[in-house]
Amino acid sequence: MALKTEYDIRCSCGAAFTAEACEYLLAEHDPGLKDAILSGEFNRVRCPSCGHGLAVGNSYLYRDETNRLSVWVCGREDLPKGKEGRKELIERLRSRLECHYTDGAEPGKELVVFGREALIELLLKEDPALRRNEAGHLKRNPAFRLIPEGGNGPGFLLLQGRKIRVAIPLHLPGDPDGPAADPGNRRKWLKAYSDGMNIHNPYSSFLDRRRISGWDRVRKEEPPGGLKGEFEDFAESWARSRVDARRFRARYPERAKFLDRLSEMDVPRKVRPLRAGPRG
Ligand SMILES: [Zn+2]
Repeated sequence: MALKTEYDIRCSCGAAFTAEACEYLLAEHDPGLKDAILSGEFNRVRCPSCGHGLAVGNSYLYRDETNRLSVWVCGREDLPKGKEGRKELIERLRSRLECHYTDGAEPGKELVVFGREALIELLLKEDPALRRNEAGHLKRNPAFRLIPEGGNGPGFLLLQGRKIRVAIPLHLPGDPDGPAADPGNRRKWLKAYSDGMNIHNPYSSFLDRRRISGWDRVRKEEPPGGLKGEFEDFAESWARSRVDARRFRARYPERAKFLDRLSEMDVPRKVRPLRAGPRG
């Protein structure tokens, strides 16, 4: 049922080769491929020259007839600007896989997401069986904080369910002379930021509905500097309240009050450090 196509691939070692990647899958018929999407192994190939594993990065169509979903999964870098671009992108993708829309099945809700993580976020909402199977594990399994030494970016918080594996990027604050200016504070910041992300993130949040609407209210009353999504904004505020408490409290009293109340909440998912190993 799945459709595969050959792609030309170039590895960072310089080797060029061709490999097959999946362009279309029907979740009910290809449970193995669905599992591979959840774990991050989907459309990954191994360089025949250096052995390094790499993602093909092609866009593909994920179909799920039970939940009536047709989801185009594009690369994060394909994100179009504005509504028009999105429409055009769907048209382009659709014409590529035209034949699969003539198999008699209803396409259901047609959606576009950018990146595997965005697909998982969507499936946790739209696929109740997946949510049932994963929610408990996502909340109980420890999260791992990966902070690379040196200048290799701020790192990730890794969440794992039964099958789901997701990496949430960590961020440093935007102000260059802000709370993460020196290396010691940078580490402290990233630890606090990942703790915040552990509490509230798009896959498995410990905030209930009441607290989420409370957080929305606080964000409206005291908007963050710059454009930030609710999760990034939460993690950043959590980090500021830990690393730069005095200034944070003075500048954002309502946010500080809200986070103080959350400090008493029980978060059963522990965050453990993970060392960056050799690449591959
Ligand atoms: Zn290679």
